[in-house]
Amino acid sequence: MTTTKRVALMGFLLESNSFAPVSQEADFTTLCYLAADEILADIALPNGRLPAEIPAFYKAMEGSGRDWQALPIVVAAAEPGGPIDQNFFERTRDDMEQRLRAAMPLDGVYIAEHGAMTGTASHDPDGDLFAMVRAVVGPDVPILATLDLHANISEKMIETTDVLISYRTNPHVDQKARAEEACRLMIEIWEGMCPQVAFIRLPLVAPTVTLLTAEGPYAELIRYGQKAKAGVIANVSVVAGFVYGDTPMNGIAIIVTARGERAAAQALAEDIASRAWAMRERFKKVLTPVADAAAMAWANGADPSRPAQILADVADNPGGGGRGNTTWLLQALLDVEAQGVMFGVFIDPALARAAHAAGEGATFPATLNAETESRYSKPLTAAATVERLSDGKTIGRRGIWAGRAISIGRSALIRIGGVQLVVGTHRKQAADPALFELFGLDLAAARTLVVKSRGHFRAGFDEGFRPENIYEVDAPGLTSPVLGNFDFKGLPRPVYPLDEDTTWAGPSWK
Ligand SMILES: [Zn+2]
Repeated sequence: MTTTKRVALMGFLLESNSFAPVSQEADFTTLCYLAADEILADIALPNGRLPAEIPAFYKAMEGSGRDWQALPIVVAAAEPGGPIDQNFFERTRDDMEQRLRAAMPLDGVYIAEHGAMTGTASHDPDGDLFAMVRAVVGPDVPILATLDLHANISEKMIETTDVLISYRTNPHVDQKARAEEACRLMIEIWEGMCPQVAFIRLPLVAPTVTLLTAEGPYAELIRYGQKAKAGVIANVSVVAGFVYGDTPMNGIAIIVTARGERAAAQALAEDIASRAWAMRERFKKVLTPVADAAAMAWANGADPSRPAQILADVADNPGGGGRGNTTWLLQALLDVEAQGVMFGVFIDPALARAAHAAGEGATFPATLNAETESRYSKPLTAAATVERLSDGKTIGRRGIWAGRAISIGRSALIRIGGVQLVVGTHRKQAADPALFELFGLDLAAARTLVVKSRGHFRAGFDEGFRPENIYEVDAPGLTSPVLGNFDFKGLPRPVYPLDEDTTWAGPSWK
């Protein structure tokens, strides 16, 4: 006799940059806050707003031929921002708890989590959430979670779940594959597999720009782990972490899940961790100074035989908590009168409003950051011409959001000198060409493309720009990869590379 497997679906996704303003309820409702049947309705849409993992897990379970029932709980997601408002976190967690209790009995829980959330009164809301789930469902119901590879892994997250699976691609394009893996492993557990987990966290916080998976030290670690995955090894997750979380759980983490054999998981985890530690000096990178970047943009505008290039304003990445409105690079480009520059997305609700008030074709005296001045976000005034207005809604075309509904809200394409600037209202990193094409722009015409993005743009703009023509610029900002720019308070110390003499003596298995 077969019985219907009852599986709860839930998720609470936030990457917290402790130096950024608090993430509020509105940041979630703007992007994604869906409960119960709203989740199933969104799964059925061709271009939904749910994180890609949720529909992927659902469809994988459907495709498995299993007799199962989805019990949708709550899926909440916000753009990366500051620590979550603790009241909102606790209200949402309590709501999830009530819905989980009502959904019992359960045969499994799938959680799509980012894994680098901090709260205004907690270092580890992800761990707190997982612990709540474990308390509700008891010790025997499998809890499987997928995580972004920028998760900061706590002991609590490990101890309260059966399997943690992190992305293996950066830019992140394997959400679907990881959710399908979670589905397969949940089924294996139902069939009797007993996951045994080994976890090692290294005193190593890597700057974000050194964590790409096409090549470099991190790519090599991930490849090594996947090659070793066979037989009893069910999953290998090499979790990069998110340094701006500034928590005691920061540091590259290795999580190996074995089928039944704990010693095998431990041996492989130790092997990978030792390799990561041995290559720690490679997790350093020199960026391009702002003045050099501006000079290159000027040269590209003047000489059409030079290859088109991307300047990545990596220190002001909304995808890492940046506000998307610093002006150092823009000012430098205007100062040298660079031509043929497309620049986006500059997040400034007041500027978008002013452009809409002026109307298409109008020239108006623009003030950037008129209402949003902060330490990093300085005003800039210039005459601007409104080239195109939009509601900012589009469908991701290429890269991390391909096929998904995305929006930068009320928005405009304005021209200031030789720069065409995409101005938006909702924070979104420039990871998809659709955010430019929305305004009729042809990216093939750009001599220089400036993106406020750390690395996800690489999966979106690979059609006309070669990797060797991408430059990461060293401007100030909330997501600067220059770790010495920050006053870290929560990191475990000593930690490499902030403390050069950091040592690691190997794991101490409990
Ligand atoms: Zn990430």
